Amino acid sequence: MSTSRNREGTGIHTSWFEEERLMPPTSSDQVVDLRSDTVTKPTPEMRRAMAEAEVGDDVFGEDPTVNRLEALAAERLGKEAGLFVVSGTMGNQVSVLAQTQRGDEIILEEGSHVFNFEVAALVVLSAVQPRTLRGRYGILDPEDVRRALRGPNIHLPRNTLVVVESSHNRGGGTVYPPETLRAIRCIATAHGMAVHLDGARLFNAGLATGTPVRELAAQADSVTFCLSKGLGAPVGSVVVGTRAFIDRARRARKMLGGGMRQAGILAAAGLVALETMVDRLREDHENARVLAEGLAALPGIVVDLARVQTNIVIFNVERRDLDAPGLILKLAEQGIKALSISQDSIRMVTHKDVERGGILRVLEALRTILG
Ligand SMILES: *Cc1c(COP(=O)(O)O)cnc(C)c1O
Repeated sequence: MSTSRNREGTGIHTSWFEEERLMPPTSSDQVVDLRSDTVTKPTPEMRRAMAEAEVGDDVFGEDPTVNRLEALAAERLGKEAGLFVVSGTMGNQVSVLAQTQRGDEIILEEGSHVFNFEVAALVVLSAVQPRTLRGRYGILDPEDVRRALRGPNIHLPRNTLVVVESSHNRGGGTVYPPETLRAIRCIATAHGMAVHLDGARLFNAGLATGTPVRELAAQADSVTFCLSKGLGAPVGSVVVGTRAFIDRARRARKMLGGGMRQAGILAAAGLVALETMVDRLREDHENARVLAEGLAALPGIVVDLARVQTNIVIFNVERRDLDAPGLILKLAEQGIKALSISQDSIRMVTHKDVERGGILRVLEALRTILG
């Protein structure tokens, strides 16, 4: 377990898996698991759709269910075409591969998923140079993007891509105001750069900003969103963009070994996710709000309520007797799972498999632990 005081944003704390091993076993029906919305299980309707899915060989373009999912995703996001991929990471990386050349420089936020949590794939796969900028809780200031751009000098790398993330995971589920996205797009376009939107939780961002997701997506050339987070599908993400971009991304996906065959079995669950699970994300946001307000009232817990905009709550533990990993272990004894993301901060993510009662149980447990 990391021992240095590792303040949020200055480094990435690595004790998650260690904490997991130390957690006492609990029977799964008593567990409140707020580690991530990726833990959501497929609904009975998804399982039925999977069992009955019409399939074909998707590498030949012949899986009708995959084709339907790609078309529906593109339509919802107002783009020409879509590509079903294994994970959000694959979606982001094929998007970078399809929009950059070796030695280009890409601009992204320093806490972003693409920079921090994708195993340095940017550098290994696309051989691009990341230029990170600090945002406010993950949200970039368009003027900072403008100032970071390089001119056409033979010594300098070419800037070809800006990556934005909304909602921003490590920022605490914060969202880009639509006008900020628009401003970044304008700067990028004026300099001949593309914008990739890592919208792993794009539908959360849409709800939180009260903006149709196609309006958010309109400010990017490529967009990735996850079916397997709050939307509850077992596997998969979709990338959307122009048809020419998707053709390149499809080749990149094949190169990475992501060409799937009768993938309609997975896509069928994704269709149910898109068709039935978007609006209920509102409940997750309400639960996050209840959780955050309850946390704010506890001794030694510090939470910035303005930062809680979607289904993620990040808070600080400021006590002499207990640090964040210590509090995680105490919660685990009561069947409550969360992640410490630094020595003094904890992340909790609300989702469909934890109802309001579970949230209240977490607050009750914290009241007891913190006295
Ligand atoms: C979860 C997430 C991803 C993708 O994660 P996978 O585990 O690869 O599906 C990408 N970006 C953000 C912001 C995320 O939160």
